[in-house]
Amino acid sequence: MKLTFLGAAQTVTGSRYLLEAGDKRVLIDCGLFQGTKNLRLRNWDPLPFPAGSLDAVILTHAHIDHCGYLPVLARSGYRGPVYCTPGTADLCGVMLRDSARLQEEDAAFANRHGFSKHHPALPLYTLEDAEQALRLIAPRPFDEPVALGEQLSFRLLPAGHILGAASVVLCNGHTVIAFSGDLGRPDDPIVRAPSPPVHADYLVVESTYGDRLHDALNPEDELAEMFSRTFARGGIVVMPCFAVGRAQEVLYYIARLKLSGRMANVPVYLDSPMAISVTDLYRRHMSDHRLTVSQVHAIDHAAFMARTVDESKAIAGRSGPMVVIAGSGMATGGRVLHHLSLYASDPRNTIALVGYQAPGTRGAALEAHAPAIKLHGDYVRVRAEISSITSLSAHSDYRETLRWLAGMTCPPVRTFVTHGEPAAADALRRRIVETLHWDCCVPEYGQSFELAEEAVRPYPCTPSPAEEPAPAPAAGAAP
Ligand SMILES: [Zn+2]
Repeated sequence: MKLTFLGAAQTVTGSRYLLEAGDKRVLIDCGLFQGTKNLRLRNWDPLPFPAGSLDAVILTHAHIDHCGYLPVLARSGYRGPVYCTPGTADLCGVMLRDSARLQEEDAAFANRHGFSKHHPALPLYTLEDAEQALRLIAPRPFDEPVALGEQLSFRLLPAGHILGAASVVLCNGHTVIAFSGDLGRPDDPIVRAPSPPVHADYLVVESTYGDRLHDALNPEDELAEMFSRTFARGGIVVMPCFAVGRAQEVLYYIARLKLSGRMANVPVYLDSPMAISVTDLYRRHMSDHRLTVSQVHAIDHAAFMARTVDESKAIAGRSGPMVVIAGSGMATGGRVLHHLSLYASDPRNTIALVGYQAPGTRGAALEAHAPAIKLHGDYVRVRAEISSITSLSAHSDYRETLRWLAGMTCPPVRTFVTHGEPAAADALRRRIVETLHWDCCVPEYGQSFELAEEAVRPYPCTPSPAEEPAPAPAAGAAP
């Protein structure tokens, strides 16, 4: 059995892990590389295997850095199933079509301005490629064993993080290989707590926050203070916001704040067709989250939904106080640019940053208090208050990850730390070695490891106090 790290190795994007077991080849996650140019260029590298030679793809969740390369795989000849949870399947429809549209727009922009050395510049993939990939999606519920062959099977466990997100537990004969996927937080008010796989011979665990602990601040308090400060000045809050998860979380808090009277009853606009589509999916996947029907209803009614361009333009004609939530989350594009160009220069207003701002983005420039930002070709002075709401996060911090790991009754023979910048990945590796005493390493991009079929466990398995001893390895996962 061989495991190869084709992405998310000492970086947080491009999650792709190739597992070769007997005559089967399975790709776990099929993500796009994002961020700096040297990472993005990897999206254009030829696949290190013929796409048609894969037997299955299994997705942990629908963030683009985990599913956004699927259209390339489909165009390259892959025709097999893409397994994921029903929630992820629905989200992939929204995400891949949007990603294809962005790829096509980028190529058109490069052609108009002669940016590319290729003539004409081609998109990484098109909407048609995305549609072809979506036809391969084969949803499977949580906790249900799925056979991939005589020896090989898998199941999906809740990982929290975003709607539909899963950890993947593969069994090859008696050997169990688990992939954490992106781990959510145990006390997230919306998504379910991540559940550890109990038993794994080999484990791949994410380390986005491997070197950090989250702020102990309460997001509801942080938002309440920011809103009341701004509204007292008669100002407008512009919030660049991620469409999946974060927009719904912010609306959840706004609904609560208005209900408790801690926030003035000002108009709130969700100016993001993608976020609106994602919000609709919470109603379709009630068992994937902790919200009640009335809480989903409250999120739906916490904002006016601006679907059309005309509805978006109408917001600009209004005066404050009000809240405008719009994509993209790092102000790299989308409708939020229009609102920033209108409102950034007024000191009564606030630009609220509610998510991670990658280096080089407009969001990062705002976070660093840049005196001006370039919007639609012109520089706009930034006089609005910049408020970073730091307590919202969809990823576990290292203490929460260690607690998730400690929930496994059997220490893995080997643990691979991925999906983190080098410092974060190494910090988590050290903590796992020091606190759990597990064998642990940080793989490099393209590195392969032979996994023993009959793994010799150097540690005793100790049942957790709350449970009976786990039965034989691979229990519950055989088809
Ligand atoms: Zn994610």
